[in-house]
Amino acid sequence: MRYCSRCGSEYQDSVANCTDCPTHPPLVSSDEMHDRGLPLPHELDQHRFVKAGIAEDPVTAQVFADVLEEQGIPLIVRPGRSGIVDELTTGNLLPWWEILVPDTSQTRAASLLEQVKLQSQATAEEAGRAAEEEEREGELARGAPLDSAPPAI
Ligand SMILES: [Zn+2]
Repeated sequence: MRYCSRCGSEYQDSVANCTDCPTHPPLVSSDEMHDRGLPLPHELDQHRFVKAGIAEDPVTAQVFADVLEEQGIPLIVRPGRSGIVDELTTGNLLPWWEILVPDTSQTRAASLLEQVKLQSQATAEEAGRAAEEEEREGELARGAPLDSAPPAI
């Protein structure tokens, strides 16, 4: 089995990249997951990893991940979309991402993410929009499937 170090999803050995994550990161072995302090799917179920925050767009999810990685906190970004999404209504449904961290780091991680959120709310909205446009263009350039494109706002 291969694993996504970003969202923790499990894949068959023949799969090379995660299809759930916006950036389609390459999959790694279970040994590498453990080396990085990341949980395998069955370990997630044991609640060793708990929710530290929610990101409402891929840009925010990436910012949250960068901040926690900088602090040496292992994290999993779990896509929160669930169920079947009708293609015609996709534009109206906002996907979201759960940021999961070890329960021992939860308090620290949650306050870090809260700070990031307050900071980003203070920055100009224009900057956020520009970053999201870039992300969208990057996705299209790499030929990502349409259903994984960032939400249209
Ligand atoms: Zn993934």
